Amino acid sequence: MKSQVRVAVIGGGVVGCSVLYHLTKLGWSDVVLIERSELTSGSTWHAAGGFHTLNSDPNIAALQGYTIQLYKELEEISGQSCGLHHVGGITIATTPERMDFLKAERAKHRHMGLDTEIVGPAEIKKLSPIVNTDGVLGALYDPLDGHLDPSGTTHAYAKAARLQGAEIVLRNRVLELNPRADGSWDLVTEQGTIRAEHVVNAAGLWAREVGAMAGLTLPLHPMEHQYLVTDDIPEVYERDTELPHVMDPAGESYLRQEGRGLVLGLYEQACEPWAVDGTPWDFGHELLPDKLDRILDGLETAYERYPCLETAGIKRLLNGPFTFAPDGNPLVGPVPGLRNYWCACAVMAGFSQGGGVGLTLAEWMIEGEPSRDVFAMDVARLGDYCTKPYTRAKVVENYQRRFAIAYPNEELPAGRPFHTTPAYGLWQAQGAVFGAAYGMEHVNYFAPEGEDRFETPSFRRSNAFAPVGAECRAVRGAVGINEIHNFGKYEITGPDAEVWLNRIMANRMPGQGRIALTPMLSPRGKLIGDFTVAKLGPERFQATASYAAQAYHLRWFQAHLPESGVEIRNVSLERLGFQIAGPKARELLQRVTRADVSNTAFPFLSARELEVGLVPATVCRISYTGDLGYEIYVAARHQVALYEALTAAGRDLGLRPFGMRAMMSLRLEKSFGAWLREYKPDYTPAETGLDRFVSFKKTDFIGRDAALAARDTPPPRRLATFVVDAADADVWADEPIWLDGQVVGFVTSGGYAHAAEKSVALGFVPRELIQEGAKFQIEILGDLRPAALVTEPLFDPKGERMRG
Ligand SMILES: Cc1cc2nc3c(=O)[nH]c(=O)nc-3n(C[C@H](O)[C@H](O)[C@H](O)COP(=O)(O)OP(=O)(O)OC[C@H]3O[C@@H](n4cnc5c(N)ncnc54)[C@H](O)[C@@H]3O)c2cc1C
Repeated sequence: MKSQVRVAVIGGGVVGCSVLYHLTKLGWSDVVLIERSELTSGSTWHAAGGFHTLNSDPNIAALQGYTIQLYKELEEISGQSCGLHHVGGITIATTPERMDFLKAERAKHRHMGLDTEIVGPAEIKKLSPIVNTDGVLGALYDPLDGHLDPSGTTHAYAKAARLQGAEIVLRNRVLELNPRADGSWDLVTEQGTIRAEHVVNAAGLWAREVGAMAGLTLPLHPMEHQYLVTDDIPEVYERDTELPHVMDPAGESYLRQEGRGLVLGLYEQACEPWAVDGTPWDFGHELLPDKLDRILDGLETAYERYPCLETAGIKRLLNGPFTFAPDGNPLVGPVPGLRNYWCACAVMAGFSQGGGVGLTLAEWMIEGEPSRDVFAMDVARLGDYCTKPYTRAKVVENYQRRFAIAYPNEELPAGRPFHTTPAYGLWQAQGAVFGAAYGMEHVNYFAPEGEDRFETPSFRRSNAFAPVGAECRAVRGAVGINEIHNFGKYEITGPDAEVWLNRIMANRMPGQGRIALTPMLSPRGKLIGDFTVAKLGPERFQATASYAAQAYHLRWFQAHLPESGVEIRNVSLERLGFQIAGPKARELLQRVTRADVSNTAFPFLSARELEVGLVPATVCRISYTGDLGYEIYVAARHQVALYEALTAAGRDLGLRPFGMRAMMSLRLEKSFGAWLREYKPDYTPAETGLDRFVSFKKTDFIGRDAALAARDTPPPRRLATFVVDAADADVWADEPIWLDGQVVGFVTSGGYAHAAEKSVALGFVPRELIQEGAKFQIEILGDLRPAALVTEPLFDPKGERMRG
């Protein structure tokens, strides 16, 4: 074993081997993989080997497509067979809701270039005659589904990496990870110490332990999983062609052919987390005891769906563990707070995702950023709120919901409530229906008295439609109050704070008492943040952005922070408060402060330190509702006092609380984009219109060259707003936009704009098609709905109310 390398990958499962291969593929050959035992010694050797492209995040789905298409290349380079069976697969629907879900997935696939199709019961029977189609409404057919040989595939990655210069050291456990002052790591292993510039945790079942070696609590947990292999079945082996995969969500099972029999895997509700207190180091090539009783119900359903199973003998039942993150997606990328420590773990579908994970990590390490937005699998999408018990609760929920329909308006219950603000009880007393993001509870809407405090999960308009509408109208008609805790908030101080902010933000920083809206760009000019920055003192700024991007943004800040002169504090949980918005917002604010808040004294985009009611507050004249409005930030201990002051003063003005659903509806009327919808690392300021907040006069900021190039050569697509002639369902995201029978664009987000009384979509289309009134169609749940492009916001197009 070498004593010094550029990268040391810990773990020789399918993921570690893929990372190793991709590092060499992209040009780094001074790399070593260190494996505790033999290759495949974790989850990999006992996997069922199935692969598919379906994923609710389009970019992860695309990376799954990449993984599947990679196997041929891998076989050619390595000369090692992956044992590929490209048999296609169908996902069955037995309820109208499931059919809606499959249609929404199908629609997404159109603009992703995936060739899936909806098929009816007769077609299903033709594809897989062993399926009993009683009660089946239809299915989604994906020709890319298939299965492979897990061990052969892992060895193919390893062999291809070796051929390109990588070293693989077997039977050598990494015992310790010790950071060095220059950012590199000493790996103490059974065979001696090796120094590596970078380490990659691809330790699968032991990723928690390898995380702990660097002081990390990684949010992942292993779960037990069982599948059975049948004896030979005549209906299977008498066919000329191999059967396709069948996913039966109602039975929580997947089925595929294995030789002359079948493999049936089950995601049972009575599932069990494995190795709660840690994965034993001596866990080897072994299986867990069978738990047949746990899958009996599932088996019964499977016998009905596939009658040939009933008479087939079970050759073996296999129970093995593999790891999940709280939301089921992998944990990939540089770990916030550590130098040169990378993750490639919690990969629950190594044979669908391993290639994409390896590619992403190699791009990130070698080129500085991945080639597409990978927030959905970025290790920094989760924060330190993920305690071990919280992670476990969410992982169990995720396992149980493996085949559940992912409704766009659904809030999952496990591990809640967890983080709350002092206002939580105040909202509860008023009928709040809560959601959660990044561990924090927020109000979605207020249920009318006597109605269920539960939003019906649906792709169509839910029972929240009417109450959200009433909240929106209250804001536009008088004044609304809404909590602003779900902004990530940062205090940036120090003599070099302004210079530093001007370097990492694309807009010029504001003067004292003023506010600037600014994108934050990657070196390639991609949007990695959408910030509001207020200058509160000569050397003091407040920056706010998405609450859920805290770890993501802090990682970037820390990576670019100078040794001295600038300090950053994350004050997201310390600074809470409310926004008040609507035509009577100023009158309300004036009632609770002695300061002059007239438009002359306190204009749009300015910030003031005021006493509001009893408490000192930072007040910003800005509102995401696009209305006349103020964000009032106070210390957490003052939040309730602020609320009491505002509600007492606002009662006769018609003050009414509103939730996030109303907020997201109101911003649509202004065509304001949202983080991870319209603004994310796939897009640039020039594509989204955020270029109006880029200061091209500044000579030096990250991403400037790319932003300038995009200004000089406008990109082919641009974000636009559409008014949709919707029926009982509005767009959510990723629906295709059609013109003359062709898909020409896609939706980023949308919904019903209640105050404007219009169904709205935001989305990208080719720049040359952007014209007031241009007619398109947007596919919603299989229907092509007419949609007209609008070039001005539906509410307050001149901004008179917002600025007045
Ligand atoms: C029953 C079952 C069925 C499955 N079916 C499928 C399927 O059909 N399709 C699919 O895509 N996925 C399936 N999976 C999941 C799949 O197995 C995993 O996604 C995949 O194996 C994860 O690979 P990995 O490389 O991340 O982890 P692992 O396979 O766990 O590999 C980690 C490796 O790291 C090594 N290691 C750990 N710590 C150290 C250390 N300190 N020093 C050196 N080496 C170390 C281990 O020895 C191990 O070899 C299934 C899993 C199970 C349990």
